[in-house]
Amino acid sequence: MIEAVGLSKRYGDKLAVDRLSFSVKPGQVTGFLGPNGAGKSTTMRMILGLDAPTSGTVTVNGKPFRQAAHPLREVGALLDAKAVHGGRSAYNHLLCLAQTNNLPKKRVDEVLGLVGLGGVAKKRSKGFSLGMGQRLGIAAALLGDPKVLMFDEPVNGLDPEGILWIRNLMKALAAEGRTVFVSSHLMSEMENTADHLIVIGRGKLVADCTVQEFIDNNSELSIRVRTPQLEQLGAVLAGKGGTVRADGEDALVVTKLGMAEIGDLAFDNQIRVHELSPIQASLEQAFMELTKDSVEYHAAVPAGKEAAA
Ligand code: ADP
Repeated sequence: MIEAVGLSKRYGDKLAVDRLSFSVKPGQVTGFLGPNGAGKSTTMRMILGLDAPTSGTVTVNGKPFRQAAHPLREVGALLDAKAVHGGRSAYNHLLCLAQTNNLPKKRVDEVLGLVGLGGVAKKRSKGFSLGMGQRLGIAAALLGDPKVLMFDEPVNGLDPEGILWIRNLMKALAAEGRTVFVSSHLMSEMENTADHLIVIGRGKLVADCTVQEFIDNNSELSIRVRTPQLEQLGAVLAGKGGTVRADGEDALVVTKLGMAEIGDLAFDNQIRVHELSPIQASLEQAFMELTKDSVEYHAAVPAGKEAAA
């Protein structure tokens, strides 16, 4: 269990984390979402005691992590996968960590097997690909068999196979009853991995709910209507308060009107309908909608290109 209460961090005149209060519970994957610069890494560093809060508190299993007697046995963290001594082999890197943390040597072989690096354990990690480096970082996080795991943007730069592997690993760790806290700016990734979401924008809490609640609360249901009488139906629906846009030659996407309402209006006006289907907004759309005012740097969109962007 991780608990933050009124957690804030100021760098000069920049408030990177702004009075965040949340708890991360065991037995589920909690996604920590926010656009780049939202304050995710800063929050994670404060959880680990690597950065001191300007105000507020954060505890891991009821006490500040700095006071942990056996840090690696309490929390495993993957913050920066490149922070490995490149001249050392994967095995020696983990052995060194195990020895300085009073962990049994046999645990090194166990975690190397768990992350699939058994075959290259004696090779120097300098020659490792990004994916292998990521696996080594995760092996280090798992070394102390901790109940709490934190991963900061773990899938950044990985190939599809590596992404799938990390996703399944996180789910498996949560299913074992561990607390799994994973940050990402990729909504589509969290949609497939997380059970619960903590969303921040410009350092502030924006949402704390399940993935489904997040979608339900933040995205409007759209309805796709296919009809050979496009203009006619468009005019009728717009006249009744619907927001209508064309989707190809023979379809409309409508919001603000229900499916039954659209069907009835078409019938009443003798307009033929060939398809009526709901479009469930993705987490990506819901997230963009919710954080659009809190993105630090907006990409410049050339005039007239908004619809395609
Ligand atoms: P995220 O992980 O969500 O991308 P960060 O926590 O890295 O966000 O950064 C949050 C904000 O704090 C950003 O505006 C960033 O520039 C700023 N920031 C982070 N670390 C420092 C630091 N050591 N000194 C000054 N500003 C920082």
